[in-house]
Amino acid sequence: MGIAGISGGRLRIDLDAIAANYRLIARRVGPAEVGAVVKANAYGLGATEVAQALYKAGCRLLFVAHLGEALALRSVLPDETRLVVLNGLPTGAEPACAKAAVIPVLNSTEQACRWADTARQAGTRLPAALQFDSGMGRLGMAVEDLASLAADTGFHAAVDIAMIMSHLACADTPEHPANAAQLACFQAASRLVPGVPHSLANSGGAFLPPDFHADIVRAGIALYGGSPNRGGPNPMQPVVGLEGRIIQIRTVAAGSRVGYGHSHYCERESRIATVGVGYADGLPRSLGNRGAVWHGGQRLPIVGRVSMDSITVDVTTLPADRIRAGDWVELIGPHQSIDRFADDAGTISYEMLTSLGARYDRSYIDQAMGDRGEIA
Ligand SMILES: *Cc1c(COP(=O)(O)O)cnc(C)c1O
Repeated sequence: MGIAGISGGRLRIDLDAIAANYRLIARRVGPAEVGAVVKANAYGLGATEVAQALYKAGCRLLFVAHLGEALALRSVLPDETRLVVLNGLPTGAEPACAKAAVIPVLNSTEQACRWADTARQAGTRLPAALQFDSGMGRLGMAVEDLASLAADTGFHAAVDIAMIMSHLACADTPEHPANAAQLACFQAASRLVPGVPHSLANSGGAFLPPDFHADIVRAGIALYGGSPNRGGPNPMQPVVGLEGRIIQIRTVAAGSRVGYGHSHYCERESRIATVGVGYADGLPRSLGNRGAVWHGGQRLPIVGRVSMDSITVDVTTLPADRIRAGDWVELIGPHQSIDRFADDAGTISYEMLTSLGARYDRSYIDQAMGDRGEIA
């Protein structure tokens, strides 16, 4: 923990739980390898800390979105860690990528040609992942382009295909018919490029039948405690604890209104606690008059709008001696999962995590290292 009282919220990130979640997925999908997706600062939780914890847990393959994220991780991880850039490379970024021994995902024939040229100029063979679109309609080359590259001996001479990959659009909804359709496309396309690892599944895909696991699973949200399947029971350990500090508790008369726009009306005399976390800390404004925090085993509704630096909570149901200024209330924790909190805000765990602000007092739980706290 940091110096007492300098921030309005505190965020605990359990690196041991991330390691446990990694091992759980690895057991589930074995013998497939689990690569960890640590893009966007490891979903807001700290790329360096998370990547190092995953390395200790045995993970040797990491995925990020941008080359800059890979370069930042290169210097804090052992060289044997393979770093893959999902979004591929813009023109001109190839030499820096090659120099850092980072593996780009080639999403088009044009990107593949540029990477092959880079290899020829460097006088070496360079590794790459090839992504094709099996039905997500986002990134990747057409299956026909994959077939052409697979038959191109000049390309093979320059590029070492480290992985063939595609991405599922509906993996968090096991019964969705798109999953079977994408799997069929993936398997047919994979046969065009035999003898290299194939990868289709994200977290949701890891909890689909074994055919979906292929050789490499790319796990993100499940490592961080988010549910890999919509609505179903969540098999993952919780990773994030988020609490806000009560700045002040005020008693307001029946008929009072609370917050910007006077959007909450007090039917009765009420006790309103102001908690020092707001939209500048990543709480969606959509939590205004929706959702709750927890304290003393009670659910306390958020009333009024979300402000930049605070929210207001109706604590009338708790006796005055059970909640006081200076107390911490739970936003994410044992009573309220990340998925529940995100659902109340009309969003998903991914967005909640990647929005977590920079002002929290951040601490990491890491048994292997002994607990250590850091102030963001
Ligand atoms: C973000 C991402 C993942 C990880 O997805 P989760 O649902 O968080 O497990 C895997 N593959 C690709 C291509 C991605 O962009």
